[in-house]
Amino acid sequence: MLSKASESECMISPTPSNLKAGGWQLATGVLAKTPHLESCLDAVEHVPSEGRGQRAHLIVVRFVPTNKVTRDDKLMLAFDALALSEMLGTQISLGKIIHGDNHSTLNVKTAVLELDVREHIAKIASLLASSSPPDLVLIPHCAECEFQSLCQQKALDRDDLSLLSGMTAKERKKLHDKALLSNTTFTASDCAN
Ligand code: SF4
Repeated sequence: MLSKASESECMISPTPSNLKAGGWQLATGVLAKTPHLESCLDAVEHVPSEGRGQRAHLIVVRFVPTNKVTRDDKLMLAFDALALSEMLGTQISLGKIIHGDNHSTLNVKTAVLELDVREHIAKIASLLASSSPPDLVLIPHCAECEFQSLCQQKALDRDDLSLLSGMTAKERKKLHDKALLSNTTFTASDCAN
């Protein structure tokens, strides 16, 4: 992207006032920081006004190494857009994910995901405000987490349902609700047999 843009129109690690000023095309390493949100954006494009009545707008860009783009990738892009919108006080509703071996581009309407992102932020905020840790649930991401052995051992000690990798979150919730109603407990060993 940098090689395609003219050097005088590129910015690296710009300040908010650099971003608010016009005359640039591409910014990389953009820190979007508000009192409650923070993200370091891979890149931001500035699309100038294309005529009278058309406003210039910003497009947030995220690079994803995999060929397949997941909903989480889109939500993280929408988080970038939200953090930058709030820092600059301007609406940013479009983003791009550049992904995979062929550097394919997926355009994403980040505004459509904003409500979802806000709900996730609220859940995280309430977890952080709580004095007790969240319920332990092993997930695919555990494989790359530094706490894997600790959590795996806790799950084994409790014979936790999330040890059953074939069981979906929905199935776990169903069993959990059933256990509450019947005042009992379902363990991984019960369900494996
Ligand atoms: S290993 Fe523990 S902390 Fe890490 S993702 Fe899994 S459950 Fe969460």
